[in-house]
Amino acid sequence: MTSGALDVLQRVFGYDSFRGEQEAIINQVVEGGDALVLMPTGGGKSLCYQIPSLVREGAGVVISPLIALMQDQVDALRALGVRAGFLNSTQDYQQRREVETAFVSGELDLLYLAPERLRLESTVDLLGRGKVALFAIDEAHCVSQWGHDFRPDYLALSQLHERWPDIPRIALTATATQATHSEIATRLNLGEAKHFVASFDRPNIQYRIVPKNNPQKQLLELLRTEHAGDAGIVYCLSRASVEKAAEFLTQNGIPAVPYHAGLDSRTRAANQARFLREDGLVVVATIAFGMGIDKPDVRFVAHLDLPKSVEGYYQETGRAGRDGLPSTAWLAYGLQDVVQQRKMIDTSEGDNAHRRRLSAHLDAMLALCETVECRRVQLLNYFGQSGEPCGNCDTCLTPPESWDGTIPAQKLLSTVYRLDNERRQKFGTGQLIDILLGKQTPKVQQHRHHELTVFGVGTELAESEWRGVVRQLLAQGLLAVEGDYGTLVLTEASGDVLGRRREVRLRREPKREPKAARPAK
Ligand code: ADP
Ligand code: ZN
Repeated sequence: MTSGALDVLQRVFGYDSFRGEQEAIINQVVEGGDALVLMPTGGGKSLCYQIPSLVREGAGVVISPLIALMQDQVDALRALGVRAGFLNSTQDYQQRREVETAFVSGELDLLYLAPERLRLESTVDLLGRGKVALFAIDEAHCVSQWGHDFRPDYLALSQLHERWPDIPRIALTATATQATHSEIATRLNLGEAKHFVASFDRPNIQYRIVPKNNPQKQLLELLRTEHAGDAGIVYCLSRASVEKAAEFLTQNGIPAVPYHAGLDSRTRAANQARFLREDGLVVVATIAFGMGIDKPDVRFVAHLDLPKSVEGYYQETGRAGRDGLPSTAWLAYGLQDVVQQRKMIDTSEGDNAHRRRLSAHLDAMLALCETVECRRVQLLNYFGQSGEPCGNCDTCLTPPESWDGTIPAQKLLSTVYRLDNERRQKFGTGQLIDILLGKQTPKVQQHRHHELTVFGVGTELAESEWRGVVRQLLAQGLLAVEGDYGTLVLTEASGDVLGRRREVRLRREPKREPKAARPAK
């Protein structure tokens, strides 16, 4: 006897009703059709393939790159009485044999597979010997070479359709621009699939992006004033800064643990378990942390370094406030972030096309940081959706002024031009600003920079303001960085500014950070 989807939802999972488009998605797959599902983190994607797997005959085969979480997912399902198993590289022969036998003899409802297992002919044979109810491809954006999280093993997933054309497939992701969305459809051969695109808006998250000066202190201030006793995640790019920030918070009375790939797996697992179990613990992590973790009451996500893409930023901030209560997404961002990331792209492995992709991702992230418009509208637009100014982001709460920065930009760019002409030695941002401000430093005198016509022409702005101008020109592509020392160089577009063919609009930094419009708790 097969039972209906609603019945399974209530009887097995203990929920009253479906959320959003879950029911339509489940019906599509139960009836044998393909589906492509874009739904933000916390939207309830898992049930969209778990329920059809229970309703249809055979086992639902779930492809997921999250090997570290398979055990937890399977345990959680077993606790509900669902017959689930997984196959990945962490198991020994005996453990794999048991799962394989259960699958072949029809004793599994769900089988989780790491994508690299599909490369093995033995896995494909195995699937042929049992009954497959459906294929679910989780984190489907991993198939996109354009996306930020490409996994070559995902390309092999198109073969599923060739081998089993009649078995329905459902691809799911929480992050996809228009480009990634259509790339998923093409690469996975989902031409016939019905597309379900949920709104990517997370209205309870307040987005804030602030200029970085002393990031650890700025973070501490935020946590003390608005998030005392709250659980949250702090992201940093390097292991070293993760360690430092965790230590800093702990020393200042905020319980925090580090999480990064350099820690042994036992420590990582223990820290993750504490985060899930305890109230008010802060995890300081590299981006490795959080994929697939379901903790509903994460009240803030803070970034101490600039994320590499809007997709990554959105996915990471999406881990805040899954329970729907007010939460904060806070990012501190500065000139050094831009210089460092441009440098990383320049020296990254891979071909030019790859570097161009990284560059485009960074540009979109910078545009989000420098916008004078509503952050939420900008985010939604990035994912191909529209929205109204939200009243719950920093630019809505404290609208930044924009100002005509054409003349300062010209002064700065012509200084870069003059220094570049010397060619003998490369100079960083500090020297550039010293020249503009007319500072008689030893280094200025040594290189006779006080003899340049631009020396001292920029006293109308303070040093920090000049750094803001440099950062924004970099973000707008009117300046570029080159080489190991982050030397500033002109771009093609710089010529338009110097030749007065182009105006430069800049964002004036608000003096104070906006306080949460609604209390964060
Ligand atoms: P996603 O994979 O999209 O990030 P999950 O599938 O992990 O989201 O679901 C997020 C949370 O919402 C989970 O705790 C899940 O049990 C819960 N949930 C999903 N669907 C429903 C529903 N129809 N009713 C109540 N809770 C639900
Ligand atoms: Zn807004």
